[in-house]
Amino acid sequence: MIDIEVSVVIVGAGPAGLATSACLNKLSIPNIVLERDDCHASLWRKRTYDRLKLHLGKDFCNLPYMPFSSDFPTFVPRVQFLRYLDDYVTHFNISIRYNSNVESSFLDDNNGKWRVIVKDTSLNVNEVYVAEFLVVATGENAEGYIPKIEGLERFEGQYLHCSKYLNGRELYDKNVLVVGCGNSGMEISYDLVNWGANTSIVIRDSVHYFTKEMVLVGMFLLKFLEVKKVDKLMVFMSKLRYGDMSEYGLRRPKDGPFAQKIKGGRTPTIDVGCVDMIKKGKIKVFPAISNIKEGKIIEFENGESGQFDVIIFATGYNTTVLKWLKDYKYLFNENGMPKPSFPYHWKGENGLYGVGFSRKGLEGISYDAIRIADDIILTINSRGSE
Ligand SMILES: Cc1cc2nc3c(=O)[nH]c(=O)nc-3n(C[C@H](O)[C@H](O)[C@H](O)COP(=O)(O)OP(=O)(O)OC[C@H]3O[C@@H](n4cnc5c(N)ncnc54)[C@H](O)[C@@H]3O)c2cc1C
Repeated sequence: MIDIEVSVVIVGAGPAGLATSACLNKLSIPNIVLERDDCHASLWRKRTYDRLKLHLGKDFCNLPYMPFSSDFPTFVPRVQFLRYLDDYVTHFNISIRYNSNVESSFLDDNNGKWRVIVKDTSLNVNEVYVAEFLVVATGENAEGYIPKIEGLERFEGQYLHCSKYLNGRELYDKNVLVVGCGNSGMEISYDLVNWGANTSIVIRDSVHYFTKEMVLVGMFLLKFLEVKKVDKLMVFMSKLRYGDMSEYGLRRPKDGPFAQKIKGGRTPTIDVGCVDMIKKGKIKVFPAISNIKEGKIIEFENGESGQFDVIIFATGYNTTVLKWLKDYKYLFNENGMPKPSFPYHWKGENGLYGVGFSRKGLEGISYDAIRIADDIILTINSRGSE
């Protein structure tokens, strides 16, 4: 096997990998993006539901050096976002090797370079890349997480992670339980009602919920006002719009939405119509599942039970960094997330970087990509002047 030498290897062709490659190309630093799937942005193309729009306004979601076109709506639909990413790849002449699953990577002590072992899944052959710099861009959402639930293995209905849910066409008149009240859980529940499913949702914890417009106002105000003031206004707006929803099972947390997010806690949920459906009784709220009894019967922590045909878990994701990156300790912890906290989370030791691991969505990705490219050019230049 011949070693393929390149200055920078980027693993993953999602928005984070594309953004980093574009920034490197602008600085004329040779790089290659390795992607396990047969396309770039596979999460957005294959693993998100049809009705998805960017939850945040477009000014907070563009990648470096290419704003969204002025005729794009404020909240960009999934398909338009994909078009934007396709144009981004062409515009910045990004070089991607598809069907290239990175199986392992480690630092070679002999030359201080990263060895990246890749399986070309279309040809069924292995390749080895050797790079001075390794950028991990495999995402915070690499693998769907389904919690352990007593009896799930004997559930006689169907269950799936929300990354496999595209729409509810097959679910008309079925009893569907969505687990989780983040953006995906709430939006999928709303979608299911529109497809005619008898929908229920598990809401275990307290949650903040706002319309997209409220979040847009809040994010704008954060540029001028302190978090505490913006949080107060956000909760006020939410109460004005939705009232007290505690009798329906929706309790607001004590911490304000942005304070909670900054502390590393959960992101406030952006409501696209689910809360009104709950109020109208079209979506039934349950507390946490205690166990799955028999057949299709699910028991909840308040003693209630119900019969369901399908469970959709909107219960989050795991990173998969630890599965392939042998020398992960130069940047990542045992959970596959960066050890240094924001704003230093993107840089590891020995030429290892991570892009898209700050829990700050596309805005965070742009921040990381620009800094990584600048740091790499600085390292290369400083070596040249030694
Ligand atoms: C449903 C949903 C909606 C979201 N909406 C928004 C939003 O509106 N605004 C916002 O700012 N953020 C949003 N986010 C968060 C975030 O911006 C996106 O998840 C974004 O796609 C993250 O980009 P990424 O490149 O880091 O990861 P991903 O898009 O997950 O890309 C990672 C890539 O790495 C590839 N890969 C993984 N492992 C390997 C391997 N071993 N070898 C080779 N390739 C590999 C994967 O196939 C994938 O293509 C959303 C997330 C989800 C799940």
